[in-house]
Amino acid sequence: MNAIVTGGCGFIGSHLVDRLVEDGCNVTIIDNLSSGSLRNIEHHKNNSKVKFHNADIADNDAILPIFKDTEMVFHLAALADIVPSIEHPMRYHHSNVNGTISVLEACRRHKVHRVIYAASSSCYGIPAKYPTPENEAISPQYPYALTKYLGEEYCMHWNKVYGLNVTSLRFFNVYGPRARTSGTYGAVFGVFLAQKINGRPYTVVGDGKQTRDFTYVTDIVNACITTAYNNDCAGEIMNVGSGNTYSINRLVELLGGTVTYIPKRPGEPDCTFADTSKILRKTAWKPKVTFEEGVKIMLANMDYWRDAPLWEPGTIAKATADWFKYLGK
Ligand code: UDP
Repeated sequence: MNAIVTGGCGFIGSHLVDRLVEDGCNVTIIDNLSSGSLRNIEHHKNNSKVKFHNADIADNDAILPIFKDTEMVFHLAALADIVPSIEHPMRYHHSNVNGTISVLEACRRHKVHRVIYAASSSCYGIPAKYPTPENEAISPQYPYALTKYLGEEYCMHWNKVYGLNVTSLRFFNVYGPRARTSGTYGAVFGVFLAQKINGRPYTVVGDGKQTRDFTYVTDIVNACITTAYNNDCAGEIMNVGSGNTYSINRLVELLGGTVTYIPKRPGEPDCTFADTSKILRKTAWKPKVTFEEGVKIMLANMDYWRDAPLWEPGTIAKATADWFKYLGK
C-alpha cells in the first residue's frame, strides 16, 4: 500500500507516519516544514519505505507527480493556531484552503482510492449542544477555524462532483508527545509543560472550570486508519473525540504545580465535547487512552518541551492582544 501523509512532519502527521510504517506501508511525506520538523520523523531516516518531499501543498505543479500510484492520502498539512490566523488570514487561506484544493485535485488526477481530511472541531464555535453532533450549526470564530472548515467543504464538494472517496474527520483537542512547540502561543499542553519544566505557575484561563475533549493522538491516528479502510465512510463527516470532557483544573491537578490566572479569551467555548456516536456506529473505532494515562505519557516525555517558549501572563497578554481587539467586540 502506498500512502501519502501531507503534514507528516507535524505533530499528528508524524504519529500517523509511525503507524503506517508499522503496518508495512510505503509512506511519502509532503511537508514544507513551516511548523513541522524533521526531528519528528528522524527515526525513519534510514527506512527506504519512508520518503520525504519538502513542498508547499498549494503548489499543484510541484506536488502533482508525487501522487502517482498512491492508494491512500491523509491530508493533515495546515497552518494551526488561532492568534497568527487573526494576524495573517491570507497565509491561512493559502495553506488551508488553496492547499486543500491542490491536494484534492492531485488525488482526483491520480485516482487515489481513499482520502482522509483532518478537520477541526473549531468549526462549531460556541455550540448550543453538548455533546456536539456533526449536524450542529457551523460558526467559525476566527480565520483558522474558517479556513479549516472551507477545506472540509471542498472535500465534500470533490466527493459530490468528482466522486472522490474522501472522509472528513473533525478532531477535538488533540494532545500527545510532539504536540507543537512553535514560537506562537498555542495549545495548552505545550504552554503548561514548558511552565512546569521552568518551575513557573500554569497560566490558567478564567476560573479553569472550562472543559475540553482532550483526545490522545494515537486514538486520532486509529480513527484515520479505521475510516480509511472503511468504504462506508466515504463522503462522510465524523467527529473524533475522547468520549469525555475534562476541566483545565483537572489537567493542573494531574500535572501538579501552582497556578496563576489570566483573562478568558473572547470566542472561547466553555466546553468542547464531541458526540462520537456516528463514528462508533459506522466503524469499529473506539478511543482507548484515558486522560489520566495520556497525561502520564506527556509527563514521561516532558523533555521534548525543554526548548519550548516559556509563556508568562505578560507575554500572553501581548501575544493575544489582537484576539481581544478583533474578537472581543
Ligand atoms: N488554556 C489555559 N491556559 C493557557 C492556554 C489555554 O488555561 O495558557 C485553556 C483554554 O482556556 C482552553 C484549554 O486550555 O480551555 C485549551 O486551550 P487550547 O488553546 O489548547 O485549545 P482550544 O481553546 O482551541 O480548544
